[in-house]
Amino acid sequence: MRELRYNPLTGQWIIVSSVRAQRRWRPEGYCPFCPGAEETGYGWDVLDLPNRFAALSRDAEPVRGDELQRKAQAYGYCGVVVETPRHEVKDLDELPLESVTKVVDLWRSITRREMGDRRVVYLLIFRNKGEEIGVSLTHPHGQYYALPYLPLKPRLMADNMRRYYRRRGRCLVCDLVEGELREGVRVVYRNPSFAVIMPFFASWPFEVHIYPLRHVQYLTDLSDEEARLLADALRGGLASLNALFDRQMPYTLAVFQAPLRGSWPHFHMHVEVYPALRDRDKLKYAAGFESATWDFTYDGVPEENASRLREACKRAMQKTQGLLGSCG
Ligand code: ZN
Ligand code: ZN
Repeated sequence: MRELRYNPLTGQWIIVSSVRAQRRWRPEGYCPFCPGAEETGYGWDVLDLPNRFAALSRDAEPVRGDELQRKAQAYGYCGVVVETPRHEVKDLDELPLESVTKVVDLWRSITRREMGDRRVVYLLIFRNKGEEIGVSLTHPHGQYYALPYLPLKPRLMADNMRRYYRRRGRCLVCDLVEGELREGVRVVYRNPSFAVIMPFFASWPFEVHIYPLRHVQYLTDLSDEEARLLADALRGGLASLNALFDRQMPYTLAVFQAPLRGSWPHFHMHVEVYPALRDRDKLKYAAGFESATWDFTYDGVPEENASRLREACKRAMQKTQGLLGSCG
């Protein structure tokens, strides 16, 4: 069974799926993403694979509901991006710039492909890292969902960016980034086209956003050189997070582009990273208050944490080969 169910209290869709790939026996230590595995073969740098546990499908059955039990077809696609053939790599900052650029280029081509499917309304590219947050496959990989509806968070972003644009005739994010670069206290890393910033309104203790300095809606708007500089900003930002406690930082990363349908000239694409640690051995949980209200309490002072991240960035600069930008 696969369907979307609507929550009329919050205006959200829930993806309901009982799809479970058959639990096949696998030899101890077998990795489905390594070269030579069943789905991967040989001779690749990055791979775009279908998710075996896909909750969405372009072949999903049509469904029928009623006003209080509203349903929709679980149309869409769930994919996996295998980011390197090298199993032992812990995070993207350990890969050379050219390899991370290939990951960004694959994100761009997935975006272009999903733009061509009229029924896909939103594409979310994301990446989970760390056993602490339940990632069992350690081979570097990300995921994406091509969705038939616009999820709540990007919908709110799009609404707020549009409202600001109507009031000021300017882009909300362009103005935010300009202010951050002027003030400087929350800037972690920057290169000629991107800035890694802890937002003034951070929810997670070491949350960072990666903003293009140019006003762009989609990854497909980036030039080849900008795609390379996004890869560099990803390396710089993630290297800083991994240097912070001198251990691998577990996190969720999400790429927020404009919706794929309609016209969103006021939308400013960006990447958000939600690191799970608040200290070397302490996880930040989205617990009672957070899971009840979706609001956050921030334990600490964002500006102090941003300055710690900037110090970590300087340590990362010495360890990480080939970073093109600078800290702060
Ligand atoms: Zn592997
Ligand atoms: Zn903008």
